[in-house]
Amino acid sequence: MSEPIKSYSIASVEGIMRNAGLSVFRAEQILTWIYAKAARSYNDMTNIPKVIREQFALAFPLHTPEITTKQTSVDGSRKYLLKYYDDTLVETVGLPSNDGRFTVCASSQSGCSMGCEFCATGKNGLTRSLMPGEIVDQVLAVQKDFGERVTNVVVMGQGEPFANYDATLAALRIMNHPKLLNIGARHITVSTCGIVKGIERFTEEPEQFTLAVSLHAARQEVRDKLMPGVKNQRLGTLRQALERYSNATGRRFSFEYALMDGINDSKEDLESLITYCRRMLCHVNLIPLNEVEGSPFKPVSPQLMGIWRDQLEAAGIPASTRRSRGSDIAGACGQLASAPLRVWQKMG
Ligand code: SF4
Repeated sequence: MSEPIKSYSIASVEGIMRNAGLSVFRAEQILTWIYAKAARSYNDMTNIPKVIREQFALAFPLHTPEITTKQTSVDGSRKYLLKYYDDTLVETVGLPSNDGRFTVCASSQSGCSMGCEFCATGKNGLTRSLMPGEIVDQVLAVQKDFGERVTNVVVMGQGEPFANYDATLAALRIMNHPKLLNIGARHITVSTCGIVKGIERFTEEPEQFTLAVSLHAARQEVRDKLMPGVKNQRLGTLRQALERYSNATGRRFSFEYALMDGINDSKEDLESLITYCRRMLCHVNLIPLNEVEGSPFKPVSPQLMGIWRDQLEAAGIPASTRRSRGSDIAGACGQLASAPLRVWQKMG
C-alpha cells in the first residue's frame, strides 16, 4: 500500500533511497522540493529523473492541504482551517509581530484524546494524529499566505504533541533543517499537558528545541478535575521529570497557567504554584482566558493576573502575563476547535 511521502521523516526518506539503490542525495533533493520550495507535485521536481518521479508518485503520493477558511484579527493574526487529503480538518494560526518575529501556532493532531475540561478540542475527542509533513504544512501554508518567512513555531495548537511523539519530532527536524525551513531549534517550542514519558524522551533529543508545559493548577485535586487525561501523571512525578530535563539540558522550560475565575485562582492555588516552581529552572506564563459564550470558565481580572505575576517574581520565579492575540477570531490561545461542536476553550 502506498503511504504519503509526508508520513516520512528525513531519515526515512534517506532510507527509502538507500533501499532503492539510489543516492541519498536524491532524498535531499526531494525533501528540498517539498519543504523548501513547497512543490505540490513530483512533476515540479525538474532535477529528479522522470523515472524516479513517476515511481515516487505511485509509491509515495504527495498531498498538500487546502486552506478552507481564513479569518484575520484586528491585531493582524490570521487563523486558518486546513483540509488534508482525507478531509481531516486542523486549525493553525499565524502571529506576526513588529519585533521581527513571525510565529506559527501549529497543531500536532486533529482533535485530542486528553479531554481537558476547558478545551474545545478535548471535548470533541481525537480524529487522528498528523503526519510529520502535515504538521510542517501548517507552517508552509501560513508562510505562503503572509508572503513572509516564519521565524518561530509553537506546537501549541490542537492535540497533545507527545501523544504523537515520533511524528512531532520528525516535523521539528524538518522545520529545523538548514536546507529545509531553517528555523532555529530554540525558536521551536513544544507544549505538552505533562506526559512524563514524552518529557523523558524529549530530554534525550540532541536538538535545543524548547519545552512548555500546560500546568493550569499546582494542586493535584484541582488539576485532576481540569485535566483528567493526565490524572495518572502525578504532579510530583512531573516535577521530577522536569528537573531531570533542566539538569540534563541546562535549558529553562515554561509553565502555562490560564487563570480561571473561582477554579484555580485562590490564594492557596498561588501558594501551591510558588511551592511547586521553587528551585526549578522555569518561567511561568500567566495566560488570560478568552471568554467563550456558554463556557463555565471565566477569566480573572487583569489586576489579579498582575498580582500573581508580582508574587511569583517576589518569590524568585520568573513570570509574565501573556498578551492575548486573535481573540476576536477565536484564534487566541485556548480557542482553537475545528470540529463543528465548539465547546469552551483550547489551551494547548
Ligand atoms: S488542552 Fe491540549 S491536551 Fe488538553 S484536551 Fe485540549 S488539546 Fe488536548
